[in-house]
Amino acid sequence: MKRSKKLKLTNTAKVIFSILIIGIVLCSLTFIHKDKTSEFEVHEIKEESNYTLKIDYPKVENKEIEKEVTDYIKNKKEEFLTTAEELKEITQTKFDLSITYTLEELFNYQALHISIYSFTGGAHYNREDQSYYYDPKTGEKVTLENFLETDKLTDLSNLAYYYTIKYYKDNNQEYEEEWVKEGTSANLKNFSHFNITKEGLLLRFVPYQVGPHSDGEINILIPAEELKRIIKSEYLTLEEPVIDVKEPVKRDLSKFKDKKLLAFTFDDGPSDAPTNKLLDNLEKYDARVTFFVLGSRVNTYSSTLKRAYEMGNTIGSHTYSHLNLYQLEDYDIMKEINNTNNAIENILGVRPKYLRAPYGNTNAHIKELSNMYTILWDVDTEDWKYKDAEKIKDNIVSHAHDGAIILLHDIYNTSVEGALLAMEELKDEYAFVSIEEMIELKGINLDKTKSYFSF
Ligand code: ZN
Repeated sequence: MKRSKKLKLTNTAKVIFSILIIGIVLCSLTFIHKDKTSEFEVHEIKEESNYTLKIDYPKVENKEIEKEVTDYIKNKKEEFLTTAEELKEITQTKFDLSITYTLEELFNYQALHISIYSFTGGAHYNREDQSYYYDPKTGEKVTLENFLETDKLTDLSNLAYYYTIKYYKDNNQEYEEEWVKEGTSANLKNFSHFNITKEGLLLRFVPYQVGPHSDGEINILIPAEELKRIIKSEYLTLEEPVIDVKEPVKRDLSKFKDKKLLAFTFDDGPSDAPTNKLLDNLEKYDARVTFFVLGSRVNTYSSTLKRAYEMGNTIGSHTYSHLNLYQLEDYDIMKEINNTNNAIENILGVRPKYLRAPYGNTNAHIKELSNMYTILWDVDTEDWKYKDAEKIKDNIVSHAHDGAIILLHDIYNTSVEGALLAMEELKDEYAFVSIEEMIELKGINLDKTKSYFSF
């Protein structure tokens, strides 16, 4: 009894076991079938006496794009085979053709990148790259331009140049500035290979684009926070820093319509006592002024900077470390400018629009690199030399005229005192306005290629 029962159980187990096995086999067959890459990819491998060939490329859902990709690869392959055939008798070199690809998502689009490596003798493989960006449903093709705000290719080119040089410097690698400049110039072709991720814009520079073949492919990331107003906002993932700043006070400018206007400008700050003393007294003269701050100082004096901004004064850039821009290469000029703009934006949430280069040393090239408005001055108080409030006041009063821009420095108490004394003397005749207000009141349409000495 016991025995037969055991046997019976074993038979049942066998049936269950068999069902399980069949099930597993069926499942795995389905699985293998689904995973079969050939459904999505085309593979071709060939080994002949005079060449080897390995081609991988994906099957694109969209018929038109698929044809384009297939034709492109077909042509490249034929080109290679023709060369291999032609040179068969005269060389012992084994030729090689390798085609690889990456297929990535780019929002609603697909980004297909094809790299073709062909070796037909010589020092190294030849490389050719081709990227396709398309909507897999409609076949609509796009380029980087579709992701850019209008007329931002020059800004992008500047950033690409900057980050490419940074890449070389960070890696202690030599570079040729002119080569980098050429390969990152404002030509859409230079940005044929890209992707946008939450980190920022990835640029792929193929060999020879920004440097010699030995540098290989260079991948540059331009961080997302640099791309505000360059890449359309819907394509940017930005972790907004917490900005604890009140909206600046905007005042009704119509009351100044019949007054002469003076713009007091203060460079080299912010500072603690002098800047705050000035801010303490502005209301008394119904005055707004302009600060051209140094990027290197804004974090130390961030509360003063915020205060100045919230009161409605204009904040401009005086670069990061007060270097003579004429002595710097483009990369360092951009560093001086970008680092300052980033530092100010991190505190105030806005990027400065106005630049005053140290010593007023600017030119067409620097203006183009900065892409900001250049504000200089026409009344130089030489406050740093005199450090005498009375003398500084006299200088301002004797040179004051409608539309004047007065140069001072809010790192000296005497400069602030001199400015306040001048305001006291001139308050009936003049309104004291910020650069921003002056531009508005004078109805100026600013031009980035110009230098403004007065308005
Ligand atoms: Zn200065």
